[in-house]
Amino acid sequence: MTKSQVKKIINKILPDLQRALHLDNWKINIEYVEIAPDDLFVGKCHRDEKRQHAVILLCYELLQTKSEVKETLLHELLHIVNAAYDVINDVIDPMLDDTEKNVFNVIRNRASEPAVLALENMLKSMGLNVKDIIALNRRSSIIMMNTMGKI
Ligand SMILES: [Zn+2]
Repeated sequence: MTKSQVKKIINKILPDLQRALHLDNWKINIEYVEIAPDDLFVGKCHRDEKRQHAVILLCYELLQTKSEVKETLLHELLHIVNAAYDVINDVIDPMLDDTEKNVFNVIRNRASEPAVLALENMLKSMGLNVKDIIALNRRSSIIMMNTMGKI
C-alpha cells in the first residue's frame, strides 16, 4: 500500500482503538517507513513506560490490505499494553555493557512477542477483530454512563 493509504486507515482507527485498549494516557506517534532490507519488519514498537510515550514504526510497503494495517496496529498497541514489563530494562540496563544490552534485548523480545501473540489469539478466539474491539468499548462506555446516571 502507499504511505497515504496506510496513514488514512491509521488516523481513522487509532484514537478509538487506543481508547478501547485503555491507552488514553499514552502519547503514540506513528512513523511510516520504507522497507529497510537490513532490518525487515512490518511493524515495530518502541515504548517508554515512564513517560507513557510510544513510537510505532509501520513499513507501509509491506502492508497489503486494510485488515493487515489494522491487525498490525493492534499488535503494536498490545506491546504498549504490556509495557509495564519494560520496567525490567530500567533495573538491568545500567548493569550491562552494550554487547550485553543487545543480548538482553533479544531475550526480552523473544519473551514479549509470545505474550503479545497470546493476547492477540485471546481476542481472536473471542471472535473479536479491531472493529469489534472498538465497538465493544463504545457499548461498555454507554453502559457505564447509564449505570453512573442511576446512582
Ligand atoms: Zn510484536
